[in-house]
Amino acid sequence: MTQVYNFSSGPAMLPVDVLRHAQQELCDWQGLGTSVMEVSHRGKPFIQVAEEAEKDFRDLLQIPSNYKVLFCHGGGRGQFAGVPLNILGDKSTADYVDGGYWASSAVKEAKKYLTPNVIDAKVTVDGKRAIIPMRDWQLSDNAAYLHYCPNETIDGIAIDETPDFGPDVVVAADFSSTILSRPIDVSRYGVIYAGAQKNIGPAGLTLVVVREDLLGKASKACPSILDYSVLNENDSMFNTPPTFAWYLAGLVFKWLKEQGGVAAMDKVNQQKSDLLYGVIDNSDFYRNDVAASNRSRMNIPFQLADSKLDALFLEESFAAGLHALKGHRVVGGMRASIYNAMPLAGVQALTDFMVDFERRHG
Ligand code: PMP
Repeated sequence: MTQVYNFSSGPAMLPVDVLRHAQQELCDWQGLGTSVMEVSHRGKPFIQVAEEAEKDFRDLLQIPSNYKVLFCHGGGRGQFAGVPLNILGDKSTADYVDGGYWASSAVKEAKKYLTPNVIDAKVTVDGKRAIIPMRDWQLSDNAAYLHYCPNETIDGIAIDETPDFGPDVVVAADFSSTILSRPIDVSRYGVIYAGAQKNIGPAGLTLVVVREDLLGKASKACPSILDYSVLNENDSMFNTPPTFAWYLAGLVFKWLKEQGGVAAMDKVNQQKSDLLYGVIDNSDFYRNDVAASNRSRMNIPFQLADSKLDALFLEESFAAGLHALKGHRVVGGMRASIYNAMPLAGVQALTDFMVDFERRHG
């Protein structure tokens, strides 16, 4: 089998060591003669897996003790509803920063529950897409919270600033495509959420980190399975959790710890993205339209100057073992998603291919 590097935006590549570990114990987990998928979530063996996964996740992000970690269903989009349903309280508005596709999708969902104050943070600087700095975001006085998306998976736009709006502003953030890729100061947030299928594990699991003083405020209409207090009181087992995804996420957390944790990931992710942006910027054949200040290190969209070569690029790259490089339909061109599980060697293989493709077709 040729070495394949999978640049999918999600479900995305998982560490191969984790897959091998899961494969090796798939049919006989812990000597029980069954797989982990087939045992009760309430039995001792699974509870131990669940607790260890939470502990490792807490260690990795240094989550303070006044925050709860919830293992939920529903994905990122589930939390587009979960956030307003849980923390709007008796207010009727919240600030929503619009920096791209996913932030604006969150606005659409939130409109079912409130009248958002939408802060359009998208600007163009020297012909490149950028985001207005946080200090210039015009927050409203009566907002229950501020919502933003630190990494726009489709647009390839990141907001890497750390929120610093004072203790009265509850910040809710969609970390779906950037969680665990670098250290973050959890204490600056009220709610952090992320679908698992990029940097955590397989699809079907969603992690929510919520400050405990925000519990107990859910609207009466909030479905119990989205209610942070209900989930918390039941150790995320109010209904049957996605046990296999939870188990696999636990293996990914152990793998991350072995790699040196998120600080080590931060370094490699910087190297990987520098390498790819470097090749794009050093050529007239490839182009990325995001300003340096807001470039994502996880999702790197790029265009070929001659879009007639797109199909050939995709065909040849696939044949070279470089998979899933087609850009999202709303952006076009190419996109390389290079989450934690993508090794530097994978990005090196991609950039070698790109340089060679340009030499042959440029
Ligand atoms: N937010 C972001 C930043 C995403 O990238 C995605 C999915 N790609 C979502 C939300 C939606 O997640 P899900 O499909 O898990 O609902």
